[in-house]
Amino acid sequence: MSDPVGHEAHDDCSWVLERLYQFLDGECPEVEADDIRHHLDACDRCVEDADAVLALKALVQRCCRQSATAPPELRLRLTTQYSRVSITRIEFPHA
Ligand SMILES: [Zn+2]
Repeated sequence: MSDPVGHEAHDDCSWVLERLYQFLDGECPEVEADDIRHHLDACDRCVEDADAVLALKALVQRCCRQSATAPPELRLRLTTQYSRVSITRIEFPHA
């Protein structure tokens, strides 16, 4: 029975965790992604880590989408209004 040394090295938690972000982003080469999926099938600890990373990614994506919905013109108008308010207040510093 021959021992597939290359695959043995891939069957390791730290190897999987190092590539977890890449894997979840779909940026892993298919050969590595296969090994990672195989490992996640058998390893509860890495599945938990993958779940945590996925939850974090979903949260970050939701935040990014929310700030992207504010059009740049609106932000510019808010900034202009804000600076106008500041100037008015400077005229009455003791009010
Ligand atoms: Zn593992």
